[in-house]
Amino acid sequence: MVQIKGLQKTTLVDYPGKVACTVFLPGCNFRCGYCHNADLVCSAAALPTIPEKEFFAFLASRKGKVEGVCITGGEPTITKGLPEFCKRVKDAGFLVKLDSNGTNPSVLRRLIEEKLVDYIAMDVKAPIEQYSIVSCVDTDTGKLAESIGLIRESGIDYEFRATVIPDVFTDETVKAIGKAVCGAKRFFFQQFQPSKKAMGERYRDMEPLPAEALESFGRVMRQFVGEVGIRK
Ligand code: SF4
Repeated sequence: MVQIKGLQKTTLVDYPGKVACTVFLPGCNFRCGYCHNADLVCSAAALPTIPEKEFFAFLASRKGKVEGVCITGGEPTITKGLPEFCKRVKDAGFLVKLDSNGTNPSVLRRLIEEKLVDYIAMDVKAPIEQYSIVSCVDTDTGKLAESIGLIRESGIDYEFRATVIPDVFTDETVKAIGKAVCGAKRFFFQQFQPSKKAMGERYRDMEPLPAEALESFGRVMRQFVGEVGIRK
């Protein structure tokens, strides 16, 4: 059983090309300063849980209207029971899209090998040597590299992506990330949004970089990756 802490009943943007719903699983092993989900990451026990039974009844009621389920967090791969949950979703006739920070390649490997996931979106938040500055925890970057390789070679649909954190991203940053994901199919830049809910104080009123900077990052990333997109 997984603890579902949030449900977005319909989304047209979370699963590329599909109508989907999104479930939010609790907890995360990172503490990114720009994260807007502090409740889900740090104090999920205080949030109400949607029983799995209720979720699957909802899903059955959406058959034919919703094609997929996006599983996000927090970091879903730290949830015990994630593979079994994905299997239930697949058995119910829905596609599974997983968002991950890439820290658990063994979980990703199992999901891929057992065909329990149809699309993976992995964050590649920073160049490897700067990772802990962004994740705000000691980060095993070897595991991130393993996840990148695994996903790139998986044969399933995927994207790598990054939020454009204004105090980290430059053309040089993007070049270093590009080298880490070189040969990948798809990379998305997500514009940074300041938020009063951001975990790190300095991200609460930081100005996003201008659109021209993101366009420049796109040009740099195109040297390494097949398809590059920018999400506002
Ligand atoms: S990995 Fe995602 S959910 Fe976890 S702290 Fe960072 S932004 Fe938040």
